[in-house]
Amino acid sequence: MKVFYDLHIHSCLSPCADDDMTPYNIVNMAKLKGLDIIALTDHNSCKNCPALVEVARKAGLNAVPGMELCTSEECHVICLFPTLEAAMEFDAFVEGKLPPITNNPEVFGTQIIMDKNDDVSGHVPILLAAASSISIDEVARQVRKLGGASFPAHIDRPSFSVISSLGTVPDIGFTAFEISPRGKVRELGLKYPLIREKTIIYNSDAHSLGDIGERERWVELDSPSPEILIEKLNYGCL
Ligand SMILES: [Zn+2]
Ligand SMILES: [Zn+2]
Repeated sequence: MKVFYDLHIHSCLSPCADDDMTPYNIVNMAKLKGLDIIALTDHNSCKNCPALVEVARKAGLNAVPGMELCTSEECHVICLFPTLEAAMEFDAFVEGKLPPITNNPEVFGTQIIMDKNDDVSGHVPILLAAASSISIDEVARQVRKLGGASFPAHIDRPSFSVISSLGTVPDIGFTAFEISPRGKVRELGLKYPLIREKTIIYNSDAHSLGDIGERERWVELDSPSPEILIEKLNYGCL
């Protein structure tokens, strides 16, 4: 079946995202847009995944718990997990790899944790926008150990991408790469032939509700479950 997706969405936990990116609002907007599966990928944290997965379950929407990790080289990598347990284990691992910088909400933005009733349950005190000490080589291995899948984010962007930070698309085992919605895949493929053999994923990277993806991008899956999506991503056959 055709499964319409958006696998890169930020909630109010990301300092740079709107405060109204709450689990309810994200799920309702994704449903309005006609999406079948979404992933929550906040910067360096999965702490809003428990609420979002629960809200999505009640609404009949498939949700993948995830994170947009900032590596030590300042590359953004989308990490997706088959279960909340795996996501929260990764969250704890990453938390220990972040620099101890306190967030200043007035400068960087708020980092709000929500509960399943869409109420504020707390704030993350350390700055989530900083680079972790996890290298890009290590990400895929750590994520796979937990049964997940990962792919470099927005590789065509001039900042926080593998191309901007490393100067190339590294051949280190990633089976998929994300390109921005308006990215030029043909030009990228000519310059970096490696990506021609890989799965290319287009996500919204939404930081506000209106930017959540439309019903445009789809993958062929037996069913729209996180497990099947991740398995196909890891086999490179999405
Ligand atoms: Zn990013
Ligand atoms: Zn992002």
